[in-house]
Amino acid sequence: MHLANNQYVIQNTPVLDLCNEFETPLYVYDGSKIEEKVNILKSTFSDVNMKIKYACKANTNISVLKLMKTLGVELDVVSPQEIQLGLKAGFSPKQITFTSSGVSFDEIENSVENDVLVNIDNLPTLEKFGEKYGNTVPVMLRIRPNVVGGGNLKIMTGHKDSKFGIAIEQKDQILALVNKYNLDVVGLHQHTGSDIKDGQTFVDAAKVMLELAFSFPDLKYMDFGGGFKVSYKEGDAITDMAGLGKILTQEFKTFCTKYGKELELWFEPGKFLVSECGYLFAEANVVKENPTFTLIGLNTGLNHLIRPMMYDAYHEVINVSKPTQAKDTEYNVVGYICETDDFAKNRMMPSADQGDVFCFLNAGAYGFTMASNYNSRFKPAEVLIYKEKVHLVRARETMEDILKNQILVEL
Ligand SMILES: *Cc1c(COP(=O)(O)O)cnc(C)c1O
Repeated sequence: MHLANNQYVIQNTPVLDLCNEFETPLYVYDGSKIEEKVNILKSTFSDVNMKIKYACKANTNISVLKLMKTLGVELDVVSPQEIQLGLKAGFSPKQITFTSSGVSFDEIENSVENDVLVNIDNLPTLEKFGEKYGNTVPVMLRIRPNVVGGGNLKIMTGHKDSKFGIAIEQKDQILALVNKYNLDVVGLHQHTGSDIKDGQTFVDAAKVMLELAFSFPDLKYMDFGGGFKVSYKEGDAITDMAGLGKILTQEFKTFCTKYGKELELWFEPGKFLVSECGYLFAEANVVKENPTFTLIGLNTGLNHLIRPMMYDAYHEVINVSKPTQAKDTEYNVVGYICETDDFAKNRMMPSADQGDVFCFLNAGAYGFTMASNYNSRFKPAEVLIYKEKVHLVRARETMEDILKNQILVEL
């Protein structure tokens, strides 16, 4: 989104036109931004055999998934439902990896039945897998490398107290199971966390994994996870991709030479690919003066964007109805849910009026996918703009959706 002729536009379409046509609250995704990010990642790792496995829990709209496929990106999924969404979007089973975390064995079986590669995160499940499939089905192992990384505790996954993955200290137990069942371990995986700004974290984790890899002679893939930090506001520190690319490429090449085979290097970015492509638009229901602060109350809430309340995430908020006015007034921005749902505090913005349209940046990842019907409100519509074409990719919900599956009994 940028200013052109004194109005905000996304790929030449004025955003206020979008809000008029599709109404607010509204999620809008800029496909060209996704393409740009995919290309950054591809060029960063152009010297190795790199594959992008989009961690689709960030944004599972099937048209977004389809765009990923068009861009040569594959999928990392975390549930049977995400497998189905991937297949629906046109991915072949071979392009999908199921990274499980404490799921039932039914879901592992479901994945195998769908011909989707499974990434196993605990020893009991690995044992069961061995008993049932032996070496007839290839498998990946999710390892916890004991590397601390990520924006805050809620989104760290690779440290020693995390629930995720098989602890690296249990290497002997892993190898015992691999030998006992003659397991066909084709890949090792780790995912340290989210919002990792220090590239060194990736390098540290990669070193642990590459060392471990020598214990598994038949690997095809090394998966270093996702978690690249994106920018939320001007001047924000982000992962230095170019620097990381250089170091990791070197490490990986040296490893492949020693290992005696060129493996595929996988990443599973979520936020990196879709955070910045997404915008949530909402209207001011009320501008409310209080003795000590003034608030803007929007026609959306934590039901549509929970990240500020759940993770204290920072989202830039822009009054797109006042594109050129001076930012001379301080506001708190809140939602309409009957529960505290602060979006932003003490933000300098143009003097606001009821009916003004506001835009949240970085709303493409963990926005709609974490939305709920709390307060029995509808989930927003979603729009994808690609090659200057505007596509409605999800209709706004209706009362039918709220009532669906509810049963009114005779009492
Ligand atoms: C959520 C998740 C990711 C993506 O994390 P981002 O911070 O969005 O890049 C990658 N891998 C796995 C296994 C995940 O669960």
